[in-house]
Amino acid sequence: MLDRFKREIDYLRISVTENCNLKCVYCIDENTLSNFCNKEYLSEDEIIRIVTQCAVLGIKKIRITGGEPLVRKDIESLIGRINQIDGIEEIYITTNGVLLKDKLAKLKENGLTGVNISLDSLKRDRFEKLTRFDKLSQVLSAIDKALSLNLKVKINTVIVDDINKDEIIDFVNLTKNKNLQVRFIELMPIGEGKKHQGTSNEEVLNIIEKNFENIQILKRNKRSGPAHYIRVEDFKGSVGFISPISSCFCEECNRIRLTSEGFLKKCLHYSYGADLKRYLKHGIDDENLKKLIEDTIYNKPEKHYFMKECDNKENKYMNQIGG
Ligand code: SAM
Repeated sequence: MLDRFKREIDYLRISVTENCNLKCVYCIDENTLSNFCNKEYLSEDEIIRIVTQCAVLGIKKIRITGGEPLVRKDIESLIGRINQIDGIEEIYITTNGVLLKDKLAKLKENGLTGVNISLDSLKRDRFEKLTRFDKLSQVLSAIDKALSLNLKVKINTVIVDDINKDEIIDFVNLTKNKNLQVRFIELMPIGEGKKHQGTSNEEVLNIIEKNFENIQILKRNKRSGPAHYIRVEDFKGSVGFISPISSCFCEECNRIRLTSEGFLKKCLHYSYGADLKRYLKHGIDDENLKKLIEDTIYNKPEKHYFMKECDNKENKYMNQIGG
């Protein structure tokens, strides 16, 4: 459906838990995480009811995220049931990859289209410094398994302080022999992200241009989302740039977000939206649920203002919103 700024909204991101098996330094405070464990998350049935009405309104693409979505025990069956909903064409998952390898075959069988794997360092000690866990080898083997199953694979990389800036070229080189996309995402001032320094994608691109001669700029299509892509000539994969800080892409925004506690958010940056869980608890019927979702989508804000003070600014951590 169209929102009031005539943007077609066809993409729903669903956070299915706030819990995570890593604790990335720019995402979550080490001590805060334990407070998230006992929250009441949307059940599988509740998620299916909401997605069904979203699909009636024109949502075609689903991304499952978190927290870490693979810590949820019902993740395979949830994806299988979402895949049965009329109108849903693509289902993706965003994961840190630690638990992914052994779940991939079943996830694919149940309808998963592709995986976005978050990976900020290819060096074991730095991976541990950034995530507070020594799990790099599990993530790397999950990437290879996903490729061997012909799933679409994207690697999401955030450059944080000076910890991993010197690995930009190593990440580009990952696309040499592997058919995957590495995407550099600018650090946003959300949660623990406020305490760290990001690197603009302009600077990342400059570093890449200094190191590779033949870079092609790839044509964007509507389905590629906010990323801009390049390819180093003869490399199998490509490199993308998602730049929420240095270049606002809100006029092309096509998404809404459902938090694990059942709050339908209009925008990553603002706290407002609709508390669908509360309505479900009070027995809302499908027609009124659809109406509530329709009103929320229609009233999406025009744009975010990450770098300015404004009312209703989101104060939650990224693992709560669903990054
Ligand atoms: N656990 C899953 C994962 O690691 O992919 C899904 C949730 S995690 C919050 C999703 C993504 O958000 C990760 O790629 C992470 O790097 C990113 N992220 C977290 N905090 C961020 C911030 N302040 N700015 C930019 N990206 C952030």
